[in-house]
Amino acid sequence: MSSRRMNLLYRLAEALAGGEGLKIIECLVRNGDMRDDELALELGLKPNVVRKILYRFAENSIVTVQRFRDEKTGWFYFKWRVQLDQVELYLENQRQRILNRLMERLRYEETHEFYSCPKGCERVPFERAVEQSFMCSRCGAPLQYEDNAYVIEALKSKIKELGG
Ligand SMILES: [Zn+2]
Repeated sequence: MSSRRMNLLYRLAEALAGGEGLKIIECLVRNGDMRDDELALELGLKPNVVRKILYRFAENSIVTVQRFRDEKTGWFYFKWRVQLDQVELYLENQRQRILNRLMERLRYEETHEFYSCPKGCERVPFERAVEQSFMCSRCGAPLQYEDNAYVIEALKSKIKELGG
């Protein structure tokens, strides 16, 4: 496994389930397939906490689960496994979503003029400023024209950073 993919996996696990999530994923990577009760035992976590996190991971396709039947007791148990292929797909979708949102915001910034309250209460496009007679809707201070070149620059560099 490449270290980049592993980093993505760990970051995603932490984003989805915090430090406990990270521990669970690290443990699965170290040991391969594991039962959730084994994970709980090894990590000193409550079994219901471990299962809850594993289900969240499964919903996001970073782990898969298989059901087995214990020959002796007849009981079912589950084994969990990290699914690394899905990690990049998930993150790629997420990246694309953020990128789209930033592009939309950039288009909006580029096609509008903005006015803002000197006290920082609000920032509105020209059309809204006209409706409000160029007064802050919260504190009544006169709105001032704002050069949004800095916003546009910030958005562009963020978009570039994300490979857009
Ligand atoms: Zn104000």
